[in-house]
Amino acid sequence: MARHTVTLIPGDGIGVETSAAMQRVVEACGAEIDWEIAEAGAHCLETEGTPLPDSTIEAVKRNKVAIKGPITTPVGTGFRSVNVALRKTLGLYVCLRPVVSLPGAGGRYDNVDLVIVRENSEDLYAGVEFEEGSEGARKLIDLCAKEGAGTIRPDSGISVKPISVTASQDIVRYAFEYALKHGRKKVTAAHKANIMKYSDGLFLRVAREVAKEYEGRVDFDDRIIDAFCMNMVTDPSQFDVAVFPNLYGDIASDLAAGLVGGLGIAPGANIGKEYAVFEAVHGSAPNIAGQNKANPTAEILSAAMMLDHLGELEAAARIRRAVTEVYAAGECLTGDIRNLTGSDKPAASCTEFTDALLTALAK
Ligand code: NAD
Repeated sequence: MARHTVTLIPGDGIGVETSAAMQRVVEACGAEIDWEIAEAGAHCLETEGTPLPDSTIEAVKRNKVAIKGPITTPVGTGFRSVNVALRKTLGLYVCLRPVVSLPGAGGRYDNVDLVIVRENSEDLYAGVEFEEGSEGARKLIDLCAKEGAGTIRPDSGISVKPISVTASQDIVRYAFEYALKHGRKKVTAAHKANIMKYSDGLFLRVAREVAKEYEGRVDFDDRIIDAFCMNMVTDPSQFDVAVFPNLYGDIASDLAAGLVGGLGIAPGANIGKEYAVFEAVHGSAPNIAGQNKANPTAEILSAAMMLDHLGELEAAARIRRAVTEVYAAGECLTGDIRNLTGSDKPAASCTEFTDALLTALAK
């Protein structure tokens, strides 16, 4: 069996706890992983002068594969999101989020099995913004009036929503290739092309063009994002692979996670042409950080995705089997899942849940 070196960025908040749990499980699953620990987050500001040290980026580039815990983005401080910076710097243009029902996880449906493919590099996440009252905002407001593009109130802050042909082609093609590789039948593109003709309209047009290349092999349809959300809540089984511009994909993946047991069990990956960084959908959960209450399942299932990516399919399958077994038994589950299932059993700590997983893995 090959040894792999993986960069581990534990992150902050509950990331410290979920990353430690994930490491224990991966070490017990049969794959041979050497970890190179790298730091990112607010705590690096004091030591390194930046929340995303160059040494961390270099470590991901060196090993090509990383797994990270969540990182807090303080609101309204001018502190840019480390996650967005990492995705941009490493060209991680795909955010991949499988959403699968887990027995005993308190989900609203037991038949969800879909994959969210979210564009990761542009849209309102591009970080192109003008503060209200700034010269840039004033110039843009004047330009819009002059060009007849529309009236913007002078006291507006403005975030720009760029959607390019190139990035839309890349993400839609990734969704179709993923569908082909994994035996999936249909790709659905979600958008608001009826209102934002030049951004979402472009995305839909490109999606339809790319879909033609796969005609007869993978079906295609599209949904307006608000209808998509309603359809997800009423009947998620109608979706197979769904592809989104950045912001809608972010919202839809939390919505989808909510249908199957919440953020505690939702894994994900950021994938580029050269590098891949695996991470849970959830954030740093400051409200429960440091209390040994976090559910590490999402990061552990993200590690299973990482093992698939490394070709360690059997090790990944063992982790998924152990997770399914612990959830189906229902004896040792963390508080987030207890709250959903309404069980009167005491909530397991992050450590106790991880111990139960290790027992299941050892069988
Ligand atoms: P969050 O995901 O951290 O928390 C939302 C809710 O879900 C909270 O009630 C939390 O306790 C619960 N929760 C989340 N993960 C859980 C888990 N594993 N086990 C049990 N409960 C869990 O979202 P937020 O509060 O909006 O964000 C907190 C911080 O995390 C923000 O600074 C945000 O920017 C950051 N964030 C980081 C990432 C990332 O690093 N990839 C992703 C999302 C948010």
